[in-house]
Amino acid sequence: MKKHLVLVGGGHAHLAALMKLRDYTDKGHRVTLISPSAYHYYSGMGPGMLSGFYEPAEIRFHISKMAEARGASFMADPVIRIDPAKRMLMLQSGARVRYDVVSFNIGSGIRIDDIVLSGRNVFPVKPIENLLRAREYILEVFKKRTAHILIAGGGPAGLEISANVWRLMHENGLTGELTVLCGGRMLEHFPNAARTIALKSLRERGITVLENVSLRSLENGKATFTDGKTTDCDVAFLATGTKPPFIFHESGLETGQDKGLLVNACLQSVSYPEIFGGGDCISLRNHPLPKVGVHAVKESSILYHNLYAMLEGGELMKYRPQKNYLLIFNLGNGRGLLWRQSFVTNGRAAFWLKNYIDRKFMRKFQVSGELEEK
Ligand SMILES: Cc1cc2nc3c(=O)[nH]c(=O)nc-3n(C[C@H](O)[C@H](O)[C@H](O)COP(=O)(O)OP(=O)(O)OC[C@H]3O[C@@H](n4cnc5c(N)ncnc54)[C@H](O)[C@@H]3O)c2cc1C
Repeated sequence: MKKHLVLVGGGHAHLAALMKLRDYTDKGHRVTLISPSAYHYYSGMGPGMLSGFYEPAEIRFHISKMAEARGASFMADPVIRIDPAKRMLMLQSGARVRYDVVSFNIGSGIRIDDIVLSGRNVFPVKPIENLLRAREYILEVFKKRTAHILIAGGGPAGLEISANVWRLMHENGLTGELTVLCGGRMLEHFPNAARTIALKSLRERGITVLENVSLRSLENGKATFTDGKTTDCDVAFLATGTKPPFIFHESGLETGQDKGLLVNACLQSVSYPEIFGGGDCISLRNHPLPKVGVHAVKESSILYHNLYAMLEGGELMKYRPQKNYLLIFNLGNGRGLLWRQSFVTNGRAAFWLKNYIDRKFMRKFQVSGELEEK
């Protein structure tokens, strides 16, 4: 019997399935991709786009074209609820979509629960499109006056964003004061050598880095910190950690501690075998994974295979997360900070390698004329 496969979100973990959609549609199955946007932005190059090192067209996939060119339909409409008993998805527009097999790759949001916020100039670092909006805003508003820019978060995203806002200002002759609030310590979960390099790299450029201080509120152009101090703030970036979407919990699906869709090693929901998921939005049972794109990308080929097996029959494959992986952070000054296990280094070669790996990844999946859209 022919089935309806629905892919919700066209993130990193769905790229292999999107590339090989013909394998499903050629067998007569109907495939629908549902995502809020026709594009998906690659987060690894997001900070580089913020600084202007990359053009937006260089870092995004035209997922609607990718799907439609391979016989699938595309709906630009976020999914807001699931009725697993009826195998039904509810979309923001009010539309409903029935599925036989569904896979979720809807990423994560930014944790801002305790911060009181008002004003328009606040940019959570996800979705990555926000970085494009922030870039345009900064370039437009601060041509003639000094910008007070705050980055909340001292993890990898906070580091890359502050380093690349610096580059954006520097390359465009803008003046400003940049402050990073780390919450805890800068790069808290990384070796000391990485922390030292990151702190030195930012402070050498005149960026203020405050450790063990968080953002409490941001109102009427004033930021208040948890230590009671206040400062002027024209623009704020929120890189305060990730949170999976609440849609799974609210829809009554079993979730992990972090409210991600609880899946077994085959990336299959533990409550409904026809529901799959990958990337930041899942919780792998007995094996919580860090929210890094590396896992989403590696899960991609397992999801492709398992969705095929659900449609056509066959054994499901297991995802075996690799323990050690390489991370390279873009320090915004042509240098990178490279980390793998206990090895840490930095310099131009590290950024060269990051740029090489990222561009190679883009070439593999930019199959819809993205670069001609510049
Ligand atoms: C600034 C920054 C830099 C980073 N750099 C790196 C890095 O260098 N290396 C690394 O390994 N990790 C990096 N990460 C982490 C990385 O972004 C995530 O782990 C990765 O994006 C997860 O991929 P994903 O496909 O699960 O989610 P996403 O990339 O977030 O994709 C989710 C997709 O789902 C869509 N979607 C969202 N909600 C819905 C909905 N309700 N219905 C339908 N569709 C929906 C979105 O539009 C999006 O296209 C970085 C993160 C940030 C914020």
